[in-house]
Amino acid sequence: MIFKFENKIEKAKFNYVMAIMHINELVRSKEFWKNIPNDKKFTYTLHSTDRLKNLMSSYMRNAEIEITFYRSSWFFRGVVSNVKNNKPNTININTRHRNFTRTSGESIIMDIADKINTICHECVHIADNLNGNMSFGHGDNNPVGKEDSFPYWFGNYARDYFIYYYNDSVQEEMLKRINYVQ
Ligand SMILES: [Zn+2]
Repeated sequence: MIFKFENKIEKAKFNYVMAIMHINELVRSKEFWKNIPNDKKFTYTLHSTDRLKNLMSSYMRNAEIEITFYRSSWFFRGVVSNVKNNKPNTININTRHRNFTRTSGESIIMDIADKINTICHECVHIADNLNGNMSFGHGDNNPVGKEDSFPYWFGNYARDYFIYYYNDSVQEEMLKRINYVQ
């Protein structure tokens, strides 16, 4: 059986659904949290890895986090996603960003992995916003040199963890069957 996607945007949204399903699995796995090294020092925060890890683990397992999509104006097309204080548990994803849809030649697994990175990065911002007395963001929006800030590090970690454990050809083949129809 196949599903006929109307366009690239629909396919990208489908891959976001896949990313969410995998994140829901990851955050329930003890291994996922255990593999975050306890001696890791994050920039832009004074908090210990242990504290950040516990906070994210309880937040991501218990909160009702919502993913929504919007199409930005041309001027804000460079924004991948954002979170807003008036809707604290919602991640808004920009369908106009050039990386929203899968780039040609990129495998479906890698596209899902990138989406896992985006969502997990934003989850850190949400948790940061909700914990007024703590701070673990990354300062301004320039990503250069921010690899060790908690949002970037955690997003990359979740992406790499997913790639390591799920990059099997069986899943890729299954996805191709439904996702490659034009
Ligand atoms: Zn960020």
